[in-house]
Amino acid sequence: MSTARHEEFDVVVVGGGPAGSTLATLVALRGHRVLLLEKETFPRYQIGESLLPSTIHGICRLLGVTGELADAGFPHKRGGTFRWGSNPTPWNFAFSVSSKVAGPTSFAYQVERSRFDKILLDNAARKGADVRQNHTVTDVVEDGDGRVSGLRYTGPDGTAGEVSARYVVDASGNTSRIGKRVGGSRQYSDFFRSLALFGYFENGKRLPPPNSGNILCVAFSHGWFWYIPLSDTLTSVGAVVRREEAAKVQGDPEAAMRTLVGECPLIDEYLAGATRVTTGQYGKLRVRKDYSYHHTKFWRPGMVLVGDAACFVDPVFSSGVHLATYSALLAARSINSVLAGTTGEQRAFGEFEARYRREYGVFYEFLTSFYDMHIDEDSYFWSAKKVTKSSHTELESFVELVAGMSSTDFDLSDTESGVLRLKRRSAEFAEAVDTLVGEREENMAPLFRSTVVRDAMQAGSQVQTRAQLGADAGEEVPVFDGGLVASSDGLSWHEPGPDR
Ligand code: FAD
Repeated sequence: MSTARHEEFDVVVVGGGPAGSTLATLVALRGHRVLLLEKETFPRYQIGESLLPSTIHGICRLLGVTGELADAGFPHKRGGTFRWGSNPTPWNFAFSVSSKVAGPTSFAYQVERSRFDKILLDNAARKGADVRQNHTVTDVVEDGDGRVSGLRYTGPDGTAGEVSARYVVDASGNTSRIGKRVGGSRQYSDFFRSLALFGYFENGKRLPPPNSGNILCVAFSHGWFWYIPLSDTLTSVGAVVRREEAAKVQGDPEAAMRTLVGECPLIDEYLAGATRVTTGQYGKLRVRKDYSYHHTKFWRPGMVLVGDAACFVDPVFSSGVHLATYSALLAARSINSVLAGTTGEQRAFGEFEARYRREYGVFYEFLTSFYDMHIDEDSYFWSAKKVTKSSHTELESFVELVAGMSSTDFDLSDTESGVLRLKRRSAEFAEAVDTLVGEREENMAPLFRSTVVRDAMQAGSQVQTRAQLGADAGEEVPVFDGGLVASSDGLSWHEPGPDR
């Protein structure tokens, strides 16, 4: 009988998507021994192509891939164009205060994930992580004291291996099998419960410049479409509809896509001269459902969840890769601090969990407001997306997620205060969009003044500033009373006061 290979590392990461690669790189940069196991061979397909500026100018700068991303020629995204809300005219959400003039960091990229994810994974290897593709993690290992102490995997030739590590990081995405070993459970959202059907087209129409790289989101009676330019000619197109349409959509996706496009005049117009891609990685229509959830625990001694393994809200505002890479940054800071012996585990991971929950909660509220703003009283899809229709369990789950973090940001004591808060913030956001459309969108100030938008941008711009300026960014203010702050290089935590 062959004996399983046994190795020892400081950290072992499961999954080489944006969350896994980010974490592996940021821990390897502090000189720790990191192993990353990825079950596929890259490049591999993944959805999630529209990014936010803080990922590009914040986290990717810390990773050291700014130049490589610029050379990759990904389309520049100045923001989003929305046919959404009470006004029939499409409006722009620009990442800069003026929709006409973009600052040097007020753009993101629209990326082919197969290329983007490979850039991040190859970079992790270059920065010192031991990256092994075609390795599938099968289980985690615990010591006798309730601590996770390693994992088991199957290698490319079917041989089994075992790794011992101070930390196991689950970054294996929405299909995570080992995530449940952190304890707690996955809670699915009713409010965001939908189904996405998506494919790729050549030669679709483009928005007029300077917004031709924008994501276009178009609400229609059955839900909404995304339309993402991935090159001059290639477009990612997806319809988000009711989960109840699953049998119809999965039974004949081709017919379902044709019908949905036909029911959405703007997307129909944009695809009028386009042909669907039918070969290669983009050759088939895909369906995703049950993608909106959060795990009730994000860590336990020796194990931490990041990215989609922990939570995902909804595709509408491109928050997936942001939450994945941001959570990886927070977890990397905690791991680096504990391994350096400067912060206790409970304190370091308490900061990780509180900040991660806060960011998830902030996006949850923002996206709830986004849906709540659109009015189509005759539509099943849109009537279910009203804050006032949220189920008791949904709101309880939200309140449990974000409350009790000793932060004044989420001053929620019960479900009722949760509903009131969501209602107030949704109304304020809808009003900001109406003002923006009324002012002919020359300037984004009304949007950036609304609390849900301000909150959604806050953590990202903080990461961006630290990545750009390092020590010159000055001392960070703790997010929570008595909480920790980031070191000047952004890679670990320390107590408020001078960075030692
Ligand atoms: P992943 O990218 O899923 O990576 C996980 C990796 O783990 C994979 O490479 C997988 O092969 C590997 N793995 C899995 N199991 C194992 C195992 N047992 N052993 C070893 N390796 C394993 N986000 C955006 O930012 N913008 C968008 O426009 C957007 N659109 C979306 C549209 C839809 C319909 C959906 C459902 C999501 C969308 N997202 C979007 C979200 C985005 O896809 C995810 O948030 C993001 O990919 C999460 O990154 P991750 O690294 O956590 O996981």
